[in-house]
Amino acid sequence: MKGIVYLVGAGPGDPGLLTARALELIALADVILYDRLIPSSALEGAREDAELIYVGKEGGGPSVPQERTERDLLAHARAGRTVVRLKGGDPFVFGRGGEEALALRAAGIPFEVVPGVTAGVGASAYAGIPVTHRGLAGAVALVTGHSREDAAGCAREDDAGVDWSALAAFPGTLVLYMGVRRLPQIAAALIAAGRPAKEPVALVEAGTLPSQRTVTGTLETIAEIARREEVRAPSITVVGPVVALADELAWLGPRPLAGRTVAVTRARTQTSTLARRLEKLGAGVVQAPVIRIRQLPVTELDLSPYDLICLTSPNGVEALFEQLAATGRDARALAAATVAAIGPGTARALAAHGISADVVPERFVAESLVEALAEIPVRHALVARAREARDVLPDALSARGAEVDVLALYETVAEPLDAAALVSARQADYITFTSSSTVRFFLQACGGEAGLSPGTRIVSIGPVTTETLIEHGIAPHVEAERHDVDGVVEALLTDALARGD
Ligand code: SAH
Repeated sequence: MKGIVYLVGAGPGDPGLLTARALELIALADVILYDRLIPSSALEGAREDAELIYVGKEGGGPSVPQERTERDLLAHARAGRTVVRLKGGDPFVFGRGGEEALALRAAGIPFEVVPGVTAGVGASAYAGIPVTHRGLAGAVALVTGHSREDAAGCAREDDAGVDWSALAAFPGTLVLYMGVRRLPQIAAALIAAGRPAKEPVALVEAGTLPSQRTVTGTLETIAEIARREEVRAPSITVVGPVVALADELAWLGPRPLAGRTVAVTRARTQTSTLARRLEKLGAGVVQAPVIRIRQLPVTELDLSPYDLICLTSPNGVEALFEQLAATGRDARALAAATVAAIGPGTARALAAHGISADVVPERFVAESLVEALAEIPVRHALVARAREARDVLPDALSARGAEVDVLALYETVAEPLDAAALVSARQADYITFTSSSTVRFFLQACGGEAGLSPGTRIVSIGPVTTETLIEHGIAPHVEAERHDVDGVVEALLTDALARGD
């Protein structure tokens, strides 16, 4: 059995710019070796059993050496695995993809290259700058302005060969990668070599990401402006008359959570809606999944005796339908029963399988479902749920004289958090907790409540999660009124707006 390596570009940051091929390969891979500058949600579609290996820069520390990354690539491929090497932007643009491809070729290992949207073009586009434009720029040069400090886990191309006088004479737009720290020297070199001092320059920081920011000036002024505005990596520098077009073409509107970071602690497979919603509002999302959903084996699932079937989470719905499908059944197995969902997320998951829930309470906790079921006659109920759930619902149904079976469809287990994610989560402006298990496992990972930074605001999805936080010595700053993703987003937004800046 022979392995294969896919050198895959993940685009500049917006998950929407991952290509269809990239998503397909991420879902297929046995092993994914990924860099820091990939979209935060890029790994969500990875297989549950895939090995995810971070080979970027560890929370400000040293990068994983390139030789080790190449050695690992070869080793995994030789073991017969399907390997995805996931890189920010395009793998062949300052991504060391070429070097990795050469190493693979030398070792006789098959590989494929999947291009990605490169930052120089993607970030420019999101800033409203066309890198070429009829009458203004008939060529574009992608240039490394590398300095050691600024490389941010990216390619460390050698810029010794960059000929600034030739570039000054280049008849078109210059797009500099990795050059923020060295902007004073680069701008001076270009002016000295004859590039007009008044030529417009834009810095696009965190292009295509929720915290994207554009700062403009001229070759003469940009270094000082960048210093004053504290422009940081990752940023590209665009030099040329096309920059002026951004005045008319900038199309990204202001976003209320711009500049804020929010850590999301729920399972990787569940983060997407919450993360997407927050990113749309401009927040920088830190993916810090501390839990994972593991489905439990079910023997002989027979739904025929029940007149009431209660589902208490979208995970439960997915697990139930997988169980049914495994034995050649489908939604019709629930046809005879009243179906109750604990909240709209669960109801939506049911709807996706063709079932319109009969009962959905107004508030999304077990107590509300008990209330909502008060008028409904129940003889024999099935509560399909997580192994470690509370017993409020089964107890209440039993108290009404119903026979109740509890079916544990899945369990929540701890997911180890990588060091970089933990560092970023602890520095975030907000941490969101969407279940008691996220509280327990996150605190375990960061060594208790003392591991949280005092400036971080804690958001709880509802009273049950709040209770767990309080048991751990943490009073949440925000509790959602609606106990679902929309409620969490709404509460966080209200808090952020109330606090200003
Ligand atoms: N292969 C990547 C480049 C890696 S080098 C690509 O094709 O885009 C890393 C440099 O890319 C950063 O220093 C920065 O200059 C640029 N970069 C990467 N992501 C960026 C982003 N979202 N916004 C602005 N610049 C980015």
